Formats: sequence, C-alpha cells, structure tokens
Amino acid sequence: MKTTLYLIAILLVASWTAILFMYKNFMEVRMFTKTMMKFTNRVRNKDFKARMDIPKSRYTNRLAKNLNRMAKMIDRYFNEVQSKNDQLDAIIKSVTNGILVVDINKKIYLANKEAKLLLGCDSQAIVEGEYVIDVIRDGGLKDFLVYNIGINYSITKELKVEGNRIYRVKIDPVRMQDIDNLSISTVVNIEDVTEMRKLENVRRDFAANVSHELKTPLTSIQGFVETLKSKDEDISPEVRKRFLDIIENESRRLTILINDILLISSIEGQVELTKEEFSIREVSEYVGDLLNEKAERCSVSVNFDYSNIDDLIYTQKEYFKDLLINLVTNGIKYNQKGGKVEIKYRQDATRLVLEIEDNGIGIDKDDLDRIFERFYRVSRSRSRNIEGTGLGLAIVKHIVRSLDAKIFVESELGLGTKFTIEFDLVKIRKRQEEE
Ligand code: ADP
Repeated sequence: MKTTLYLIAILLVASWTAILFMYKNFMEVRMFTKTMMKFTNRVRNKDFKARMDIPKSRYTNRLAKNLNRMAKMIDRYFNEVQSKNDQLDAIIKSVTNGILVVDINKKIYLANKEAKLLLGCDSQAIVEGEYVIDVIRDGGLKDFLVYNIGINYSITKELKVEGNRIYRVKIDPVRMQDIDNLSISTVVNIEDVTEMRKLENVRRDFAANVSHELKTPLTSIQGFVETLKSKDEDISPEVRKRFLDIIENESRRLTILINDILLISSIEGQVELTKEEFSIREVSEYVGDLLNEKAERCSVSVNFDYSNIDDLIYTQKEYFKDLLINLVTNGIKYNQKGGKVEIKYRQDATRLVLEIEDNGIGIDKDDLDRIFERFYRVSRSRSRNIEGTGLGLAIVKHIVRSLDAKIFVESELGLGTKFTIEFDLVKIRKRQEEE
C-alpha cells in the first residue's frame, strides 16, 4: 500500500513537472510568435531596420537569429537598390534632353523635367500614370508617338512642333518589368534642335553670301586685267587709267571684305580677346585720327565729347575700337557735304552710354529692322555707290553682345541716325574684380 501511494505521489509530481514544463514552453512559443508577428509586420511595412529580441530557448533563439540575418540582408539590398535608383534619378534629371519612359499600354511611366517642358506641361506636373495621348498637346508629336510606341526597332525623326520649334525625337524599344510586373516598352528621347538648325542655316547662308560677295570684285578685276593684257595697244592712256582705278577700288573692296569676314568669324567663333583697363578718351582720339582723312574727303565733321565720364573701362579694347570705327565710319559715309557726326559719352552709377549721332541720309523704317543682318545693305546706298560690305553692323551687333552691352537705333529718313550703346557697368566691374 505504502509503495502504491509512493508511486502515485511520484506520478503526480512527474505529471505536474511535465505540465509546468509544457506550460512554460507554450508561453515562450506564444511570446515568440507575438514578437515574430510584430517583427514581420514591421518588415512588411518596409521597416528593414526591425530586429527580433533573441530568446534564450535554443530553437526559437536560432530562428530569431536567422530572421534578423534575413532582415539585415533585405535592408542592405534595399539600400543598394535605393541608391541605384537615386543615381539613375539624378542622371535622368541632369540630362538636358527630355526623357520619357512609356509602358506597353501607352501610359507614361517616367518623365524628367525637360520632357514635361518640351511636351508643354508644367515642369512640376505629375504626368506619370497618364496616357501619352492625354498629355501631349501638339498633334504631330502626339501622332508620331502614339503610332510608334511599342515598335521593336529604334526610330528617329525631326518634327516641327507648335511655336515653330524643331524637336529631334528618338524612340527606343526596351524590354523590362517593373515591380507590378508591368512591361515597359519604350524610351523616348526628345531634343529641341531649333537653335542648332537655325545656326546651321545661318552658316550655310553666310558661306553662300561670302562666296558671292568675293566673286563679284574678283570677276571684275579679272575682266579688266584680261582686257588690259589683250588689247593693250588699242587702249588710250585715259581708259587704261580708268580700268586701273577700277582694279584698285575692287582690290580695296576685297581687302575690306576679307577683313570684315575674318573679324565676324573671330567674334562668332568666340575667340576670347583679353580684357584690359584702357582710356576711352585715348581710343576715341585714335579712331578720330584714323577717320580724319575720310571725314575731310566727305566734308563731314567728327566731334567727340567724353567730358562726362570716368574715362577708364575694363573690357576688350580691340572690340571697343572696332565698334567705334564701324559706327563713326557709317556716320561719315551715309552723310552729305557739311554734315556732322557727334560722339557723346555719359555715365550713371550702373551704365556707360555711348551715342553716335549723324545728320546724314537716315534709314527708312522698313530697313531699320534689317540693317544688323549680315550683308544687308539699303539699296539706295548701293545705287549711290557708297563703299561697303554690309557686314559692319553685323560685326557691331556681335561686339555689343561680347561687351555686355545693348544697342538701340533711331533714324529719320533725310534727317539722320542715332546709335545708342549701353554698357552694363555693374557686370563689367564684377568681371574686373573676379579676373
Ligand atoms: P555697310 O558696309 O554697307 O556700311 P553696315 O552693316 O555697316 O554695312 O550697314 C548696313 C546698311 O545700313 C548700310 O548699307 C546702310 O544702308 C545702312 N546704314 C548704316 N549706318 C547708317 C547711317 N549712319 N546712316 C544711314 N544708313 C546707315
């Protein structure tokens, strides 16, 4: 009996111990499941910094450590992807072309700022997720994109779009999936080439004009030289002199033309002339002396007034001189006997103003808009045989730009012309301090 009781007691103790042990384990697993739930929820919400507390129990301890390792790895990969994404974003943003990525359904997946502007949207507008057809305003561009998005070869086309602009549009097929398994089909690269094409046209016209302008005096020189050579005995000394005068004049015209062409090419090619501080008075006197003979020949008086300025300026001296020579020469050339050219300088805190005013033949309103074009000459001055290349004011326009200045012209036919040049002293002084 005693033994039986003894056994029952042992059994009871053993079962209680087992129950206690199981209960302890159950509680531990419950706690662990709870922490695991919390942890997985955080990871699901992309908090990859979440870590589990490590329990003491052997199995749960290992599991927790593994889960923490997993979270750490996800965190590292996520950071790598994020940083690659940021790099790609920065590259796309810094590209000066418009970049548009479109998915298979012709919906915009990505558009950089430039693309939004080129498509006529606000740069801050959110166009991602919109249909291309709803975002693009220009009919031609819309048709081109809608028709070609999804093609499996690259295509490039220049399109004339609203506002007389020319866009070079390149479409490239791509095959990739985004996270929602959506297939991205096309990358569109848009470049505004309007200015480039304009410049090319200007260059082409310039080359054609230059060869034409050079050919005219050369043909005439060649013709007179041939006549002089072949009919030497039959030509009277007076006629010979006349022919030689023409040859001399045409050669001079050629020299002037070539000099002007070289000058305009150098200014346009932005050959940087060094800036220096020089005296406006000295340069003006030099130009006055240089043109004195021409002014006397034309019976035109030339007067400089530089009493109202500081005298010293920091800029490209040679350009300043060329500017004066061109404008004062025109004032003398397009004038009449007894006429005058007044050159006045005045200055305030921010501007230096140069006025070159003549009381010559003046310029018709219709011509006024065109006189700064290369080779443009008012036809009346041609008929009056006033020497010129039509490049002087084109040179002036470029010089004015290089000197941080602005030019204005007023003219009245038969009364005279006034050119006003405003130099930006604030910019000029700032440059001087920096250099
Ligand atoms: P050009 O070599 O013919 O003088 P410019 O480019 O200097 O070429 O001038 C272009 C045209 O503008 C001239 O042909 C002339 O008809 C007109 N023009 C320029 N300056 C004056 C002026 N001061 N008075 C009248 N016409 C002018």
